Amino acid sequence: MQTGIAKTQIMSPRSLVIMLIAAGAVTGGNLWIHRADPQLGYVRYTGYGISFDYSVMMTQRESDLAGFGSATDSGGTVQVSYQDADLLEQYGVMWVEPKSMPSNAARTPEAALDFLFGFIGLAGTQITDRSEYSTTTTDGHGVIYQTFGVPESGFTIPGIIGAWYCEETGRFLITYLIYVPDFENTEVSYQGLERMWLDLLDGLSCHGIQG
Ligand SMILES: [Zn+2]
Repeated sequence: MQTGIAKTQIMSPRSLVIMLIAAGAVTGGNLWIHRADPQLGYVRYTGYGISFDYSVMMTQRESDLAGFGSATDSGGTVQVSYQDADLLEQYGVMWVEPKSMPSNAARTPEAALDFLFGFIGLAGTQITDRSEYSTTTTDGHGVIYQTFGVPESGFTIPGIIGAWYCEETGRFLITYLIYVPDFENTEVSYQGLERMWLDLLDGLSCHGIQG
């Protein structure tokens, strides 16, 4: 077991928004109709053909991939996050059309992840310990995913990220989760993280939304 980390360090504004800084305006349609209402205490994000539910406790941000402008159909991110003295949770979904990726990049989910990690590096966030890829499926798409770490104040925040190509909407989807349940006990369970992320993946819709 590692020793606890100082809350004042981990609570820095930078650590709250780890992956992509964003002050983008909340836009996007509200076009999701044919689905059961969210559970009590949850709200539903719908925009750019994407839909998922998140706790009302979480803060939502939507922006372009670089985090400075507004999302568009060809690329963007929506992230939800929560942080208090004991807990950090951040979940994000990105989408990018192949034409928005570098011309020399392969048109694969692996290349889409590398492309995104490039953005994250430019934003000043260091990523370490990218694991081997695992595979799963969502909405009929083949998904690759891996765990990673974000060094912060002498501690490594654990994360998990996956990518796939959505044939129906012609874009790559990427979704990640960062979760620290207890800053006093920073021993990381990547297994627990993987279960949470797979559950989130189950609740995410990447196509089939009217509009
Ligand atoms: Zn899809």
